[in-house]
Amino acid sequence: MAYDFDLFVIGAGSGGISSARRAAQYGAKVGIAESWTLGGTCVNRGCVPKKLMMYASQFPEQYHAATGYGWDAVDSQFNWGQLISAVGNELQRLNGIYRNMLDKSSVQVFPHYASFVDAHTLEVGGEKITADKILIAVGGTPAMPPIPGIEYAITSDDIFHLPQQPKHAVILGGGYIGCEFACILNGLGTQVTQVIRGDKILRGFDEDIRNEIQTQMIANGIHVMTQTAIESIAKKDDGVNVGVVSHDERQHIIADVVSLAALGRKPNIEKLGLENTQVELAAGAIAVDKYNTTTEPHIFAVGDVTDKVNLTPVAISEGRAFADSQFGGNSRTMSYDNIPTAVFTSPEAATVGLTEAEAIEQYGEAGIKIYRSKFRPMFYTMPDMPIKTLMKLIVHSESDRVLGAHMVGDDAAEIIQGVAIAIKTGATKADFDATVGIHPSAAEEFVTMR
Ligand code: NDP
Repeated sequence: MAYDFDLFVIGAGSGGISSARRAAQYGAKVGIAESWTLGGTCVNRGCVPKKLMMYASQFPEQYHAATGYGWDAVDSQFNWGQLISAVGNELQRLNGIYRNMLDKSSVQVFPHYASFVDAHTLEVGGEKITADKILIAVGGTPAMPPIPGIEYAITSDDIFHLPQQPKHAVILGGGYIGCEFACILNGLGTQVTQVIRGDKILRGFDEDIRNEIQTQMIANGIHVMTQTAIESIAKKDDGVNVGVVSHDERQHIIADVVSLAALGRKPNIEKLGLENTQVELAAGAIAVDKYNTTTEPHIFAVGDVTDKVNLTPVAISEGRAFADSQFGGNSRTMSYDNIPTAVFTSPEAATVGLTEAEAIEQYGEAGIKIYRSKFRPMFYTMPDMPIKTLMKLIVHSESDRVLGAHMVGDDAAEIIQGVAIAIKTGATKADFDATVGIHPSAAEEFVTMR
């Protein structure tokens, strides 16, 4: 049977666009549907605007440091409206670039939501479109647990459109998004209370890293309420009233505008019409095999909708592996080992490979060696600022292979990206030691740790 398209992609985010372009490069006739702006969460509501705001939030510290280098003290006022509009303009520019990229690749863009009518047919903006293969790349959406009044909380999607800077924000959650926004808002001058249900932020990260970031976030003025359960959120004329139980004691936190829920994300599958296909779910996400094939052999899924490793570069890699396999005659899968990741907090943190706890679980305490270095980077010495960098390597005793590298401090993401190549290719501690350092730099500590 002749179909309208060889491949139809639902969702033009990182995973969808990379798959569509690569399949089109192989000569496939490709269509893509996106009801929102091109680029998906990462470009429009996530990584990109978040990082731009993080840059903005770092200037006060830089101004302070400048006085240690002979500059007069800077008296500068921050304008929230100006930042939000500059970020919006940049996103518009990026949307244009995405549009051009898709046009150049001859991918036909449909600015509509697509849902399944049957396993080969989609309804796209009132039109029926058929495709030989269909890729679901619709991403995720903020999870809103059933807390009374949760509808009064905004999410990270909304923060980029707030007309005014909140004076006091209550941030619910201690994961990537909660921590990043706590630091951004705090840096921009908002009073921040961060509510977490455990003892520490960033569950799943190496304990030394969690401790160091939390300590420095608190030192920077963020009020982190640990072991605190959120009971309710009530709307007030001038803000919100967040009811919590903190260390068994009931309290109310009054914030002027914002309580920001950063309590995880869930796959965006409600309106896809999956009931008209044989596509099955596992724990609320689309179940796929290692080739990203769903339980319908011609329907595939990549990225956050599969809820595996919810990171932009992972969605892109999955999408390219899918397109190479299905349209490029090169059947391959993506490798999930040693995926580096960063948290753009202040201080920044980045990590690759096993945490100390994971390494102990695999090799036992006697099976690993830990190398740590904590120091004040040169930049902060003259301004006499108490900002520290922490670096940590986890090494397999028997083989000498480096199992994990972790860092908290300036440029952690930039530094760990390079270290990740070494770890991915199986470098040993002896290889690290044999590498000549770049002096003077913080990064050289990774090759000089004893
Ligand atoms: P995370 O899963 O990272 O963190 C969720 C947080 O919410 C945790 O602190 C969790 O606590 C807490 N939580 C969950 N449910 C409840 C509840 N019912 N009551 C109280 N607390 C709760 O989610 P995020 O929303 O921060 O981020 C979503 C994903 O987006 C990340 O996992 C990541 O994959 C991606 N992302 C990546 C970024 C990057 O690469 N820099 C940046 C931003 C997002 P507990 O730890 O106790 O479970």
